[in-house]
Amino acid sequence: MTNIILLGPPGAGKGTQAARLQDNLGIVHISTGDMLRAEVASGSDLGEQAKGIMESGGLVPDDLIIAMISKRISCEDCSGGFILDGFPRTTPQAEALDEMLADSGIVLDHVIEIRVDDEAMIQRITGRFACAECGAGYHDDFHPPKEDGVCDKCGSEKFVRRADDDEDTVRSRLQAYHRQTAPIISYYSDKGGLSSVDGMADIDEVTREICKITG
Ligand code: AMP
Repeated sequence: MTNIILLGPPGAGKGTQAARLQDNLGIVHISTGDMLRAEVASGSDLGEQAKGIMESGGLVPDDLIIAMISKRISCEDCSGGFILDGFPRTTPQAEALDEMLADSGIVLDHVIEIRVDDEAMIQRITGRFACAECGAGYHDDFHPPKEDGVCDKCGSEKFVRRADDDEDTVRSRLQAYHRQTAPIISYYSDKGGLSSVDGMADIDEVTREICKITG
């Protein structure tokens, strides 16, 4: 059983690397962004509260996120290990996570920071899109589909872009990261459990570096 936190700004590749870790280690990928987008799509109370905040690039209030994660990590499928992607994002969230883990006797094995450059993140994020059917990820400049407008994996011709991936919103999300999330890097490094990888390297190289850490 391995429990991992992936830290890094929007666009650092946390989602991509978490999906690979999920496959390689057989542990559950928990993305608070994906959970919130599902809440918004379902029109739940939580989704209604989160929608406008997400669209503006701000952070959803800690109490809502902490309640959502607390419920999620107590699910049976997490007993074999999990990767947290997008949580914690503030110091109160990190402190609440510590309490939750201590209460359930769960040990955090690795906190891995993916380090990247802000301007490069804007180009990475604003160009990304995904297949609406199978979720395969693409990028206008770095990874377009082999045949224009057709998904390499499933042949679908429907693609989606995240509503918060336009440049202005991305700048707000990066600001929120530097203001509210960057301080938790020192929170974990002070506790002595932080590793860092260079997120500007090629995707496969980043995966290799992460695998060296997770063993
Ligand atoms: P992500 O997919 O991780 O980039 O998250 C998309 C958006 O969901 C963020 O810009 C926030 O508005 C919201 N969000 C996701 N995770 C959190 C969190 N841990 N705390 C607060 N807001 C979050």
